[in-house]
Amino acid sequence: MSAKQFIRNYVLEDINGEMNLNRIPCHFLNADHSCAIYDVRPEACRRYPHTDEKGFFNRPALNARNTMICPAAFQIVEKLKSITQNV
Ligand code: SF4
Repeated sequence: MSAKQFIRNYVLEDINGEMNLNRIPCHFLNADHSCAIYDVRPEACRRYPHTDEKGFFNRPALNARNTMICPAAFQIVEKLKSITQNV
């Protein structure tokens, strides 16, 4: 499938111009919670939950939302909180 066809079928652009998959749960989420296109999943999926990215500390709202979805994001934020509270 071409990138253009993928975007047409599965992507929505939000009011900020960001591209998001157009259905929740995602079209490619299998019943066992695995990803049907794992080897070729979109870049945003590869980067999720973005905890190792340069701009991590500039996105508190997104990070807070991710902690409610992703156990790894939750654990990382909790660890950072404990470190910064003890400084
Ligand atoms: S990794 Fe991305 S493409 Fe795969 S199921 Fe999750 S949201 Fe969908």
